[in-house]
Amino acid sequence: MKVLVLGSGAREHALVKAVAADPEVDAVIAAPGNPGIDATALCVPVDILDGAAVAALAREYAVDLVVVGPEAPLVAGVADVCREAGFAVFGPSAAAARLEGSKSFAKEVMAAADVPTALAHVCTTLDEVELALDALGAPHVVKDDGLAAGKGVVVTDSREVAVQHARACLAKPGGSLVVEEFLDGPEVSVFCISDGETAVALSPAQDFKRVGDEDAGPNTGGMGAYSPLDWAPEGLADDIVRRVAQPTVDEMRRRGTPFVGVLYVGIALTSRGPKVIEFNARLGDPDGQASLARLETPFAQLLLAAATGGLAEFGRLRWSDDHAVVVVVASDGYPASPRTGDLISGLDAAAEVPGVVVLHAGTARDEAGALVSAGGRVLDVVAVAPSLEKARKAAYDAVAVIELEGSHHRTDIALKAERGEIAVG
Ligand code: AMP
Repeated sequence: MKVLVLGSGAREHALVKAVAADPEVDAVIAAPGNPGIDATALCVPVDILDGAAVAALAREYAVDLVVVGPEAPLVAGVADVCREAGFAVFGPSAAAARLEGSKSFAKEVMAAADVPTALAHVCTTLDEVELALDALGAPHVVKDDGLAAGKGVVVTDSREVAVQHARACLAKPGGSLVVEEFLDGPEVSVFCISDGETAVALSPAQDFKRVGDEDAGPNTGGMGAYSPLDWAPEGLADDIVRRVAQPTVDEMRRRGTPFVGVLYVGIALTSRGPKVIEFNARLGDPDGQASLARLETPFAQLLLAAATGGLAEFGRLRWSDDHAVVVVVASDGYPASPRTGDLISGLDAAAEVPGVVVLHAGTARDEAGALVSAGGRVLDVVAVAPSLEKARKAAYDAVAVIELEGSHHRTDIALKAERGEIAVG
């Protein structure tokens, strides 16, 4: 099998590695890829938002499967163009990716499918916002309706801050927003793979969105993750498939826009049961990397089955008994104003720590061919070991030997889970 993977971050590095490890795969092409992906796949500098260019690339290499990593090409309809060109594509159509692209659309689908989620009001005026804030009370949750690269959500006790964010959302052309009931309880990520009819869940993961230890500071794209979640209710993944993913997939099919790809279900385990916080239309980053690190099922075959409607016959997924911990190494100034172009070293020493793989998130080669930082999140250190404690230790041992001037990382990824300090509900 030949597989084309679209994207250039750590998620795509993990996807490429998992696809390449499948014995059925003899070549992986990545567009545009990154210096880490380059070691495993042939990287081709194609604009992945240009569907025609991506389809031409798929044709040139006669690939059997196209895997779309990030959300931007999905929303741009790149999966549609490749499908129309006759390729098997793992990734939703633009119409189905609206589950991520529009919070109000996602709410409407959840209501139709009877999926448990926070009460919400869609607002297009400040008056409506004030009424919704009154009705739902504090803490206030205000969400930009459209894609906002992880910066669209404000959770606050301050009415003033809530209104300020609402003003900013409404000021955009066609601006609308969602005011939502606050959900308590730990958050988990359940990635469900769907072929448009059947949904199966990957092993649940938990990610860490805030930049600092103990959830201090602003939100980021994600500073770390781990999987499995030993503290979570037994059978959580199957429960989320039954109560959330399958009804959503059924509803999307009923609307004539079947969802093929990863339905990322962000769940709050509240005192009143699991409730959906958000949907995304692709694998989470870095929580997806934590999930994938333990998957033993041949991954390309799984994605091909999903892309061609064969999930029902595919059989149950197999997982190693190990634990996976991902620690993100971020550049100086991330998330507000990340500095790029700094030299990175120590990666060979990091990879020598048993169980550790270093994924490239935001790296580049400078003119002299040296590896430098090229984004806010620079590296993902992924450690797999027989216990959570050992996986944490391996990850942090590897982080300690990586050198990148001004870099920072959280020191408490998976720490509460290791100490048994997470309570559900
Ligand atoms: P979202 O972009 O919808 O994932 O929101 C980003 C983050 O905001 C989530 O990961 C939660 O930590 C928080 N959040 C979103 N919605 C709620 C809610 N209804 N109640 C509490 N926290 C929320």
